[in-house]
Amino acid sequence: METTSTNSAEPFSPALDRQSLRPDCGNCFALCCTAFGFSRSADFALDKPAGSPCQNLAPDFSCTIHHSLGQRGFRGCTVFDCFGAGQNVSQGFFAGESWLENPGTKDEMFSAFKAARQLHEMLWYLAEAQNRAFDPDTSRRAVQLRNTVEQAVRGELPELLSLDIRDLHSQVRSTLMDVSAEVRASYFAAGDDHLDPALTPGADLMGSNLSSRQLCGADLRGAYLIAADLRGSDLSGVDLLGADLRDVRLERADLSKALYLTQPQLNAAKGNRATLLPSDLEMPPHWHNR
Ligand code: SF4
Repeated sequence: METTSTNSAEPFSPALDRQSLRPDCGNCFALCCTAFGFSRSADFALDKPAGSPCQNLAPDFSCTIHHSLGQRGFRGCTVFDCFGAGQNVSQGFFAGESWLENPGTKDEMFSAFKAARQLHEMLWYLAEAQNRAFDPDTSRRAVQLRNTVEQAVRGELPELLSLDIRDLHSQVRSTLMDVSAEVRASYFAAGDDHLDPALTPGADLMGSNLSSRQLCGADLRGAYLIAADLRGSDLSGVDLLGADLRDVRLERADLSKALYLTQPQLNAAKGNRATLLPSDLEMPPHWHNR
């Protein structure tokens, strides 16, 4: 069992809480449909170069095939999440003036979006790291990084565009891993030999039946869990940072205390109403009738 955190970091009231790290497409100039490029694959039905609008994009920045993305071969769009970077760049950095109204801003706007998207994702993870760290020093480190990243996404455009994101990323990664180790260790009171040696970071577990395995406290960071069977599993304290959850079966699974879970991961998975989720994530619409 995970015990109560002894987090004693200074009070922190970030302006960007986790709810503000959710996409608000109505206030975004469809930056994900323009800034990024994609190649024809199982997830995208066409090739699109970076920096050009998708052919399915309407002039009001809505998607003309929004209700049939999966059937039309654009499943990749249903699992993308900007963590709120789209509306921040559109309304914050560019004050509500779109790249259609002012095409001269296009390149900077798309570059800003690519940078901000990475930073917003860091904020998503750091909020969890801060709250779940057991060691007050680790929690404080998460707070400091959160402040640094938040200043960047609420600051000036030139600073955002010149930021050394790689360095920041490596500091964030190290903090996330430390918190993960602390949280997972709380499941090993009887020693860690109960864990299956196959449950490792980056493991290829595609199609595996894991439903009867002891998973609590496992480090499945970056693991390939595509179409694995996790029905009824307890995933408390399981590090799922960057794990590929496409088509993974999650019916009746308990993910309420899983680590580093994101909405795009859930959107790609198959669960149902009986699947338990962390309080700040939503049940994907396609789970309702399963
Ligand atoms: S298909 Fe729709 S959601 Fe996907 S990139 Fe094109 S316009 Fe955007």
